[in-house]
Amino acid sequence: MQFRPFNPPVRTLMGPGPSDVHPRILEAMSRPTIGHLDPAFIQMMEEVKTLLQYAFQTKNELTMPVSAPGSAGMETCFANLVEPGDQVIVCQNGVFGGRMKENVERCGGIPIMVEDTWGEAVDPDKLETALKANPEACIVAFVHAETSTGAQSDAETLVKLAHQYDCLTIVDAVTSLGGTPIKVDEWEIDAIYSGTQKCLSCTPGLSPVSFNERALEKIRNRKQKVQSWFMDLNLVMGYWGGGAKRAYHHTAPINALYGLHEALLMLQEEGLENAWARHQKNHLALRAGLEAMGLTFIVNEGDRLPQLNAVSIPEGVDDGAVRSRLLNEYNLEIGAGLGALAGKVWRIGLMGHASRAENILLCISSLEAILS
Ligand code: PLP
Repeated sequence: MQFRPFNPPVRTLMGPGPSDVHPRILEAMSRPTIGHLDPAFIQMMEEVKTLLQYAFQTKNELTMPVSAPGSAGMETCFANLVEPGDQVIVCQNGVFGGRMKENVERCGGIPIMVEDTWGEAVDPDKLETALKANPEACIVAFVHAETSTGAQSDAETLVKLAHQYDCLTIVDAVTSLGGTPIKVDEWEIDAIYSGTQKCLSCTPGLSPVSFNERALEKIRNRKQKVQSWFMDLNLVMGYWGGGAKRAYHHTAPINALYGLHEALLMLQEEGLENAWARHQKNHLALRAGLEAMGLTFIVNEGDRLPQLNAVSIPEGVDDGAVRSRLLNEYNLEIGAGLGALAGKVWRIGLMGHASRAENILLCISSLEAILS
């Protein structure tokens, strides 16, 4: 069989992620690979840490990218914080809360599920009822930006509640980081993880995480070793937290980290508040176009994520055929529904570099041409 170099088609990525990668980031990733303990690389790692602290709005010393996708950031939080027998309250309002439950179980913890309707934000009253009913619970976990539905929850209120009942918090910010406000220190989030492929405009494969002192205290006082060698933060920190004296832990994904460095630099240049405002402004423009076509959002206005717009598929319209035509005729990718919403919604992302006027025009005009 004859194989040739792979040349992907040029697409516009307006799904739930990955989103369009900025050319500056792709260029940064093509720079020469150097050693992962090279002083020049270590200097760059320090900058990545500082830039991530800015993105997360935290001074947490343990702030770094896990060398694997968002799911690995999720596992890093659960594997380090959940010990066998721990009761963990998981608020689920979409697909990703279900993965948190899986993580708790696989760490030997006992998940206590607080279920909310898909498409709605996590209800703080339901969480408080669960906290009162389960005084032994020691962790509350929830998804800030539910990518499967486009709903945003009030992280500040949920974390405050958890702390009133002496629980630590694990927050999924895979889709929120860089696109909608997250203030780790001000909101006192204990452990948080994200991904690079959404509002940071970067390639997939890295998961920024941050842990505060309260979370580290629980990790230091574990009765058992973390069951995952790769994710054990006590070991990872010898590399990411070692200052000038870094020890080999694993071979860092060097060029992927060049990309993240560039992405975070661009976020700093734009300014976090400006990035949040851009996502909101573009969401309103897209919304106007979608509603003019008669499409309706599944999330109430106050709980909508600007970077993930979930709309109901009109009666009688063939979901797969529309998305195929968008891809084949317009090189435009939008997302299908996930889990319980499969076949019922389209998820239109406006994340990071994809959140710009020309993408909105392309999406509205091509959808209109296909649906009319
Ligand atoms: N959590 C949320 C909210 C997500 O949207 C995703 C991915 O879409 C993940 C976790 C998992 O991230 P990854 O696919 O990078 O492993």
